[in-house]
Amino acid sequence: MDLYDGYNRKVSYLRVSLTDRCNLQCFYCRRDNLVLYEREEILTIEEIKFLISVFYRNFGINKVRFTGGEPLIRRGIESLIEGLRDFNLSVNITTNGILLKEFARFLSENNIGVNVSLDTLIPEKFKKISGGYDLDRIIEGIDTALHLGIKLKINTVLLRSVNDDEIFDLIDFAFSRGVEIRFIEFMPFVNEFIWRKYFISEDEIRDKIEQRHKLYEIGEDSSIARYYTLENGAKIGFISTVSKPFCHNCSRVRITSDGHLVLCMFDKFSYPLKQFLRPKIKENELVEYICSVVKLKPKGYIELREKQASFPMIKLGG
Ligand code: SAM
Repeated sequence: MDLYDGYNRKVSYLRVSLTDRCNLQCFYCRRDNLVLYEREEILTIEEIKFLISVFYRNFGINKVRFTGGEPLIRRGIESLIEGLRDFNLSVNITTNGILLKEFARFLSENNIGVNVSLDTLIPEKFKKISGGYDLDRIIEGIDTALHLGIKLKINTVLLRSVNDDEIFDLIDFAFSRGVEIRFIEFMPFVNEFIWRKYFISEDEIRDKIEQRHKLYEIGEDSSIARYYTLENGAKIGFISTVSKPFCHNCSRVRITSDGHLVLCMFDKFSYPLKQFLRPKIKENELVEYICSVVKLKPKGYIELREKQASFPMIKLGG
């Protein structure tokens, strides 16, 4: 049975946050006074696998993405991934890349697609943005992953006066490795003052790029990103939730690491699934519950625009 929301959008893509912990502290992602989930609140690896299997067996979802926090710090991620081997599913992760080098062989052997978040190529700036010292390690991770044939993309959140001077260097970095880079608009997950200060729209970024290069739009079939090539063949994409929302195409739902179903990143509601897992599994009731709450998926960002996202990004995972 396919799963449809109240606007007749088919839900086929599940994003699962494996943890709300992260080994970086990016200033634009972090929220003050963030209360992390208690250990007992977090879904076990078995519970996560079961929930994915419920979406797979009952609703035919075809794509899963693990995120966080930082998914590669979640203990047991290997057994989770191995446990999905027999499913006909595209399995991907979004990572900051710090542990990518260590995991690359495992990810490659399990055919896992990897999106690496990379906002700067300058170590001091990396430290300022994320508090981390490991930019070299991330780049080594990217190169190791590519060497092992992993399908990899780079995602960059461009922030005004922080990294918008690196657009061309980041494009070159990706192009020299034969990888596509997507520029993601900064979304209002933090307080409005910070968001307004750093937000840059896709149009502004494109204008900057077009001062040096001609951009050729590729009519590529992607529900969320718009892709272009430069005259040298470099491929870039834009994911512009704020200025060009793609909610009419949205096929995603999310599960937080404490087991709440979130139907839209900007929704203030979430739906507890753990009640159907603990103390014992009630699959039929769970399936019915998912079918009914999915109908409540908001139409989209435009409708919710005046409100700031209520879930912190670190608990949702982008
Ligand atoms: N730790 C992993 C990583 O760094 O990719 C996964 C979680 S992280 C929250 C996922 C992505 O969300 C990162 O690319 C991060 O840059 C991005 N992000 C965080 N806050 C954002 C915001 N307000 N708007 C847009 N992207 C954001």
